Amino acid sequence: MNIHEYQAKSVLAQYGVAVPTGKVAFTVDEAVAAAQELGGQGVVKAQIHAGGRGKAGGVKLARSLDEVRQHASDLLGKTLVTHQTGPQGKVVKRLLIEQLTNIEKEYYIGVVVDRASGRVVMMASEEGGMEIEEVAAKSPEKIFRETIDPAVGLTAFQARKLAYGINIPKPLVNKAVAFMTALYNCFVDKDCSVAEINPLVVTKEGEVLALDAKLNFDDNALYRHPDILALRDEDEEDPKEIEASKFGLNYIALDGNIGCMVNGAGLAMATMDTIKYYGGAPANFLDVGGGANQDQIREAFKIILSDENVKGILVNIFGGIMKCDVIANGVVAAAKEIQLNKPLVVRLEGTNVDLGKQILNESGLNIVAADSLADAAQRIVALV
Ligand code: ADP
Ligand code: MG
Repeated sequence: MNIHEYQAKSVLAQYGVAVPTGKVAFTVDEAVAAAQELGGQGVVKAQIHAGGRGKAGGVKLARSLDEVRQHASDLLGKTLVTHQTGPQGKVVKRLLIEQLTNIEKEYYIGVVVDRASGRVVMMASEEGGMEIEEVAAKSPEKIFRETIDPAVGLTAFQARKLAYGINIPKPLVNKAVAFMTALYNCFVDKDCSVAEINPLVVTKEGEVLALDAKLNFDDNALYRHPDILALRDEDEEDPKEIEASKFGLNYIALDGNIGCMVNGAGLAMATMDTIKYYGGAPANFLDVGGGANQDQIREAFKIILSDENVKGILVNIFGGIMKCDVIANGVVAAAKEIQLNKPLVVRLEGTNVDLGKQILNESGLNIVAADSLADAAQRIVALV
């Protein structure tokens, strides 16, 4: 789960990470009132679940209340297109009104779970404000990494190494170490999957502050963080994905035209690959899970079909825990119930596969029962 910058800053502040003073605003008047508290000026920052706002005009400096009012009314309701939002952009519904910071220099700090070592890694770079992927491609020697032993945590020694590596001014190294330690504590305590501070800044007054903050949380751990779950902003999520999660379906929207319904994440990935291989494009990733029932299959069809781009559906189910005849009955019943009128190719494999195919063939519906994954993919590609 993702949260907004202003929310991330307030979570980080609970752990002692230094952040600028600021306040969220949902209206122009709230924005002006917030700037008044900051002494009549401030930075107006669009709050969307995407980075790259600065370059896209979503971060505006205001030297007076009139400028705050102007920027706030320009930004609220505007669709902001950044390199992370996709071409459709995201509508700005909240603003962060923040203290204008006198930046001396910008840096980068990121914390991630490194799958290779199975440990948390803190990364730092002197190239603040730039995307870390870009730094990694152009000047990898400028990225410093420390792998953290979970039993010990981030040691002061490691944090100092990072601070020296990225050339934090000597008198501020202790502040940087405190910053990194607090950031790491927050990451672990809140079960984050990513924490990115880009930029971390050193100010002209000698402060070390998080000027931007991005926190992602491990969905599987949210049950023990009701305070984080309360920060969820469903406006920022795909409504189809929200609907799917209510039925225990793992759905991710993509931009192709072949809807996919598959059991098991690995098989779903292989299905998408095979569709691509035969020249098609999947409209979604959808894992109905190992023991999907008829209700879930019906809801899955509905969610797939609510995407206007879908021209046909490929169902690829391995009947291991579930038997193929049960799945076939479920597919037929769901297709009838929702009056499915788009091409449907079904590939079943596993227990009672022959009976399953027979049910599909005798359903009286326009369902193609395919013999293999390759066969199924070629047929649905031809049909759409
Ligand atoms: P994004 O990463 O989405 O572009 P940031 O929060 O990183 O948004 O802001 C972009 C740039 O705007 C920063 O690199 C910094 O130069 C400037 N900026 C952001 N917040 C402030 C602030 N409070 N005071 C001064 N400058 C800021
Ligand atoms: Mg940023």
